[in-house]
Amino acid sequence: MKTEAAVLSKIGGPENLSVQEHQIEKEPDSILVRITQAGVNPVDYNLMSGNIIYSVRPLPHVPGSEAVGVAEESGRNVRKGDRVIIYPRIFDGTCRNCEKGMEEICVKAGLFGVNSNGAYARHVYVRESNLFVVNHLETDVSGAMPVGGLTAYHALRRMSPHEGESVLVYGASGNTGIWAIQIAKAMGLMVFAVSGKKWLSEYGLEGVYPMESIPPDLKVDMVINSLGSEIFEDSFSHMVKGGRLTTFGVYTGKKTQLDISAIYNNEFAVIGSTGGSRSDMSALINMASKNKFRIPVERRFELRKIREAMEAFKKKSTGRIVIEPSQA
Ligand SMILES: [Zn+2]
Repeated sequence: MKTEAAVLSKIGGPENLSVQEHQIEKEPDSILVRITQAGVNPVDYNLMSGNIIYSVRPLPHVPGSEAVGVAEESGRNVRKGDRVIIYPRIFDGTCRNCEKGMEEICVKAGLFGVNSNGAYARHVYVRESNLFVVNHLETDVSGAMPVGGLTAYHALRRMSPHEGESVLVYGASGNTGIWAIQIAKAMGLMVFAVSGKKWLSEYGLEGVYPMESIPPDLKVDMVINSLGSEIFEDSFSHMVKGGRLTTFGVYTGKKTQLDISAIYNNEFAVIGSTGGSRSDMSALINMASKNKFRIPVERRFELRKIREAMEAFKKKSTGRIVIEPSQA
């Protein structure tokens, strides 16, 4: 069928985007989803600009990895009219990692919106195994779950947190940080945030510190470092013996020097994390229905204003930017 989409003609920047009529094809086990909200995340911007080289396909390309929408037809588990979010990992479901429930590291892993056309469109066909029903959740919360929420949930789970333990979250006001602090609270953890944003204190945290004024004697059980190389050393200085650190972002760079003796003498665990599994997605939805998560949206754009949305993202807006292709 024909829909309308933001199509990237070639890699190089958001100026190569144009909103145009776009043909979409139904694939086996897929369901037509009308997109009500799609998030703008670093992956989308980096893909367009070529900041990070992804194997983008197809080209020309419809970006957009994170979205919530409405099912326009019924499938095996999804009913027409259900509000659904798109689990953004592409997986085969048959490899040894998928069989262990680790779809995020499927041997044929890909990302919706990167290795397939994505959600900056009025409609998209999505495999039913990538859809989760979220009728009871509000759009601003559910719309931010597939990338920001899932990444934060999985990163915390990778450290096997125990109730009462402490966690320090760098970049706490960002797309994943705002989830990490709230999920950590819901897990019963003591949460310390690193951010210059004073409004984070509304989230009932144990402490909010700008980067330059983290108390030197603050020591935590776990660290979420989504900011990359420049804060690795700082992260280690705030970990207790036996502490764990999860890393999943390279905002300040991807190469760093590590004091290996600090790792073994203190028995630190440095853990990688990428996205999350389908069972993480289910667990997060369950958690969101029991906890009142708040995800502030800074600016909303219609689909035809896609270039302005990307421009706003580039200017380092303080909050979440979303595109709303159709009415909720
Ligand atoms: Zn697999």
